[in-house]
Amino acid sequence: MSPIFKCLICRKDIERSTRTFWNKKGHLLCSTCLDNIDKKKLNNEG
Ligand SMILES: [Zn+2]
Repeated sequence: MSPIFKCLICRKDIERSTRTFWNKKGHLLCSTCLDNIDKKKLNNEG
């Protein structure tokens, strides 16, 4: 069972492994927010 963390942006509960948590230094985002950031990056670079 994975622990539940909160997305930094939308505060949604997300299930992540503790290893991921430490890899990201506690900066966890849900997949929706990650998608949004990816889109923004594309727009900025485009
Ligand atoms: Zn989110």
